Amino acid sequence: MIYLDNAATTRVFDSAVIAAEKAMRDEFYNPNTTYKSGVKVRDSIENSRKYIAEKIGAYSDELVFTSCATESNNWVFNCGIKNKKGNIVISAGEHSSVYESAMQLKSRGCDIRIAPLDKNGGIDETRIYDLVDENTALLSVIHVSNETGVINPIKRIAENIRKLSPKTLIHSDGVQGFIKTGDSLHNLGIDYYSASAHKIGAPKGIGLLYIKRGLGIAPYICGGGQERGLRSGTQNTPYIAAFAAAVEQFDKLADGNRMHNLRNEICDYFVSNGCKIIGDTNNSGYIICVCIPNAKAEIVQNLAHDSGVIVGKGAACSGSKRGNRVLSAIGLSDKEIECCVRISLFADTARDDAMNAVKIILDSANKIRSNHVG
Ligand code: PLP
Repeated sequence: MIYLDNAATTRVFDSAVIAAEKAMRDEFYNPNTTYKSGVKVRDSIENSRKYIAEKIGAYSDELVFTSCATESNNWVFNCGIKNKKGNIVISAGEHSSVYESAMQLKSRGCDIRIAPLDKNGGIDETRIYDLVDENTALLSVIHVSNETGVINPIKRIAENIRKLSPKTLIHSDGVQGFIKTGDSLHNLGIDYYSASAHKIGAPKGIGLLYIKRGLGIAPYICGGGQERGLRSGTQNTPYIAAFAAAVEQFDKLADGNRMHNLRNEICDYFVSNGCKIIGDTNNSGYIICVCIPNAKAEIVQNLAHDSGVIVGKGAACSGSKRGNRVLSAIGLSDKEIECCVRISLFADTARDDAMNAVKIILDSANKIRSNHVG
């Protein structure tokens, strides 16, 4: 199979499997014990934390391991807001783990303000500055859209918000940008950043939350006081080891220029075949959202699968829900949304595989049109 649904999840790197296996077989001790074998496991966790922190321009003590980015996002909304009476601003392009967290607060009476998207799929920047005021407790803007791959200018937004409302806390859901954009978190100038390991070649079930030094946040999960009292529960030592191994491997493989060139070649091919690309400007290089006229994405996906190609159609997490909140916010009609396929690349996606897949996707669409299937 040619796998091009890497925004949903990724194949686990061999090096990450080996690191997890070593932790499970040889270093299985509880990291919170006081005997030497346990202390050694605790040291391994700290080495992984330090390694990841250095790669993303953060301090070790700013990273807390969580079970996934959904947990990290929920944590920020449930515990990371200082001004409990203030309003919250999010973008219309947020992943459901941010959007639903905000909606939950709304149902409890919180003033939630949603900044619209522009036609390219990025946040309409001027509208955030209209919506944020001195009572804005939290601003949450996705770093890279999981639907289109468009990068939001988080650094510039953070700088402007600091001038407008210095007390507003700034969070970014960094799941699709983590490691890929090469941004340093200190340089972005934000307060919270969520990431997930299974998008970069580590197993599912491990993520992190960056919490700017000195900020302080109440724990979301209480208990034995692990993770410096911030996130209780015995640490997932095998997956933490795998997370660090995946960061190392991804970083070695990643070549931003190659990704952008490959993405451009794929997009050009689609466009020359009458398709429309959503989110073509300021893209991370890893995601292509393509609208293939008169071919329902679900059927394209199934036909392509039968021919050996796996692609997505919108966020996997919202795959069971009808429509697509984010693509609607960009201004696409329901008919266009039904025809949007999401192709997501990985650092090791080979050019020839990707171009063969594109041809198979277009063949599948042609079959649908000629048979009037769907
Ligand atoms: N945020 C974004 C932008 C995502 O793409 C995803 C997963 O698709 C998540 C959050 C949720 O991540 P996790 O699967 O680690 O909970």
